Amino acid sequence: MTNQTIPYKIYLSENEMPKQWYNLRADMKIKPAPLLNPATLKPMTPQELAPVFCEELIRQELDDTTAYFDIPEEIANFYKMYRPSPLVRAYCLEQKLQTPAKIYYKFEGNNTSGSHKLNSAIAQAYYAKKQGLKGVTTETGAGQWGTALSMACSYFGLDCKVYMVKVSYEQKPFRREVMRTYGASVTPSPSMETQVGQRILAAHPGTTGSLGCAISEAVEKATTTPGYRYVLGSVLNQVLLHQSIIGLETKAALDKYGVKPDIIIGCAGGGSNLGGLIAPFMGQKLRGEADYRIIAVEPASCPSFTRGRYAYDFCDTGMVCPLSKMYTLGSGFIPSANHAGGLRYHGMSTTLSELYHEGLMEAVSVAQTSVFEAAEEFARIEGILPAPESSHAIRVAIDEAMRCKQTGEEKTIVFGLTGTGYFDMVAYEKFHDGLMTDYIPSDEDLAASFAGLPKVD
Ligand SMILES: *Cc1c(COP(=O)(O)O)cnc(C)c1O
Repeated sequence: MTNQTIPYKIYLSENEMPKQWYNLRADMKIKPAPLLNPATLKPMTPQELAPVFCEELIRQELDDTTAYFDIPEEIANFYKMYRPSPLVRAYCLEQKLQTPAKIYYKFEGNNTSGSHKLNSAIAQAYYAKKQGLKGVTTETGAGQWGTALSMACSYFGLDCKVYMVKVSYEQKPFRREVMRTYGASVTPSPSMETQVGQRILAAHPGTTGSLGCAISEAVEKATTTPGYRYVLGSVLNQVLLHQSIIGLETKAALDKYGVKPDIIIGCAGGGSNLGGLIAPFMGQKLRGEADYRIIAVEPASCPSFTRGRYAYDFCDTGMVCPLSKMYTLGSGFIPSANHAGGLRYHGMSTTLSELYHEGLMEAVSVAQTSVFEAAEEFARIEGILPAPESSHAIRVAIDEAMRCKQTGEEKTIVFGLTGTGYFDMVAYEKFHDGLMTDYIPSDEDLAASFAGLPKVD
């Protein structure tokens, strides 16, 4: 098998597509720390979560032992509209770099939302509909999640209310219009529509918002509107579960040609694409069946893994959400406004946080100008215009391939190309005009933010 020529794109047939999601937590000896009720500091019960989240999603969120969940037929049918996503052998990039490394990327940008987020959006909308709900609320930063959710909601006939971080609402009018095309209502956050929005605006007049603020608003709206629940596009265990489709397809495609990766690389915002991509590989690693180097890539301007604390923190700025033990920069942390490259969330998936804490994966941070250099190099040789978020993974994949060039090692590198960058041309413009800067928070900045961590333990 290994001598067989590997095609540019390895596709799976419909029959070869995964029929179940894989729950990585089932194979973890030390489980991710539970969500805590901020008032009692006791683990959140399903009853306490029920006003916020859909019932089936709560079950998935809290289940640390079931390894496989069947993908319902309605979701599998929707997946067939844009999956399997291609696993591409980056022959052109390899040649350009003159590296002996073999580079593959799993491309999740082949759907209208332009990212992997649709994989979880469709699942969350399905369970909300099945529960008989009227609609869902959510937040969106750059807009990929809001777009994915509005597509999923229109498919199942659910209302969709999106709080969009104000700076993105203003900078990305076309994203907003895509969401409205799919029937979503979009409000710039912070807004006067919610009490928490009013509070944040009173404390910080003129603020351009943050994901943490928008989450608080969406949660308040969901819990005060009958027939509504809140849905989140990253960070949560349930989202990593749905995103395992990425890794399962990747592994099935590689297995077809007998290819075993040495290094698996993904960008990390809240950790959902990375958690999904690595799931089956990390599962093997946890069970002692195989070993891989796994690398999370984050922006130097929002370095949760590499400079954060592993501690209980709020998931949102308004402190209305449960406490989550994760690598965090503090819920009050707002990345510099000149950071254009996405991945701005202050915290990280509890699952990935625990794996990183145990040394089962690595993390590196990269400055945004070097990310855009990699994005442009990739676009010019592989054709795809990558999202800035995805380009963090490209940066480190290229760096690892260049290291192989020095050592002569023929390593196999797989990275997640999470989406396309058509709505990020303002950031590309800044880069082309030489106006992009690399703001990196100082230790003092971070210390100020850590001081606001809740006292737990
Ligand atoms: C949202 C997003 C990310 C980061 O989110 P994760 O939950 O860390 O995966 C990365 N790339 C793209 C294109 C995104 O839309």
